[in-house]
Amino acid sequence: MNDYDVERMREVLARDGFDEAATADEADLIVINTCSVREKAESKVASSAGRYRELKLKRPGVVVAIGGCVAQQEGERLLKRIPVADFTFGPDQIPSLPELLGKRARDRRRFAATEVIDVEDYRFLTAEPRLGQVPVTALVTIQKGCDNHCAFCVVPATRGREVSRPWREVVDEVARFVAAGAREITLIGQNVNSYHGVGEGGGDDFAELLARVDEVPGLRRLRYTTSHPHDFTEKVADAFRDLKTLCAWLHLPVQSGSSRTLKRMVRDYTREQYLRQIDYVRSVCPDISLSTDIIVGYPGETDSDFGETLSLLEAVQYDSIYSFEYSERPDTPALKLALRDNVPSEVKAQRLQQVQTLQKGVSTERLSRWVGREVEVLVEGDSARYPGQLCGRTTGNEMVNFAGPPSLVGQLVPVRITSMRSHTLVGESAQANHRLPVLA
Ligand code: SAH
Ligand code: SF4
Repeated sequence: MNDYDVERMREVLARDGFDEAATADEADLIVINTCSVREKAESKVASSAGRYRELKLKRPGVVVAIGGCVAQQEGERLLKRIPVADFTFGPDQIPSLPELLGKRARDRRRFAATEVIDVEDYRFLTAEPRLGQVPVTALVTIQKGCDNHCAFCVVPATRGREVSRPWREVVDEVARFVAAGAREITLIGQNVNSYHGVGEGGGDDFAELLARVDEVPGLRRLRYTTSHPHDFTEKVADAFRDLKTLCAWLHLPVQSGSSRTLKRMVRDYTREQYLRQIDYVRSVCPDISLSTDIIVGYPGETDSDFGETLSLLEAVQYDSIYSFEYSERPDTPALKLALRDNVPSEVKAQRLQQVQTLQKGVSTERLSRWVGREVEVLVEGDSARYPGQLCGRTTGNEMVNFAGPPSLVGQLVPVRITSMRSHTLVGESAQANHRLPVLA
């Protein structure tokens, strides 16, 4: 979501005549985008802003703007905490960046622009992919905000009510990215499964949107993130079997393996329901790669609740996970429900360690299932880490490195997996030896 927002800021500012500076020292405008989902992310804001203090002393004309969810949440308070900031602006204000810059120049006063646009008036910014200048894989937003009430989560407070983007806009944007050179599209939103199409025909659900995007000529791969299990229907799962471009990859955040904790998180599903969904997805797409998000140390989480999270990780066998220690966030339902952040930090750290150690073994085991097989890799570019090698991903989102000519970038290539490193696969391209045809 944040990468997507930064890309839109870049486009809005380019339309207003801004070019990207090579370094901050040369810039006239510095925009810091922020995330407030977890406390750690939020505390980074002050330190990154602090870096520009000296620059501003040297060149007082430089404008420093702070955007994103921390800016939305903290508004004026952030201006007090970060004297180097000229103004702060929330996610809904991205299209107005040029006007905000004009206001700052004209009024010479610092301000916070945190107005949230009403659901009815919200317009999605249109991406402007340019021929040959887009990455092989691109993001397209289908929704903003969130109507759920997960007790730990600050997103509904910072990003507002959910708005679904008209399906025609989504399909057109995907087509424009593909025409400009993208081969893989990831549809993004906070809870994509609750998408409800608007526009001609109206009333369409997420499964129907997927089917429409699948038809875009030239699109090779389709992914989406993030899903909420509550709205993840069998119809959406069936798309893994029925659509030609949909990748065999699903990120389905579970947060906890304990039904008691899930209830207190206001997640609206139980451990058993979640496990049944996983079984169903695997029944329609047996080789699917799965990932999830886990929170440890949620208020009131006992050793036994935590044990259920460990046993769920064992039961599901995810390919990868993101795991976090709970951090209390302002304006979240947890505070209103008086769920106090009462798990000691040493216990949280220990639980996180246990989760990560267990998952490391599971991930390694899961990755090893590819060794010796031939997989289809969408080549994304040169490997940053292994000079002379290309890098790309399997349909399951596993990273693969292999030797091959740069002409393979953007193509789907058959690759035989010969070995693995800790998180990535190593292969040999049959194409590089001119033995097998390129698939696309
Ligand atoms: N909309 C997405 C992602 C929300 S934020 C979803 O519903 O899955 C991404 C992840 O951050 C969450 O899935 C959760 O695991 C984590 N997270 C959110 N709030 C948190 C908090 N207060 N403390 C710790 N982790 C949190
Ligand atoms: Fe937050 Fe829950 Fe909405 Fe995800 S679905 S953004 S965790 S409230």
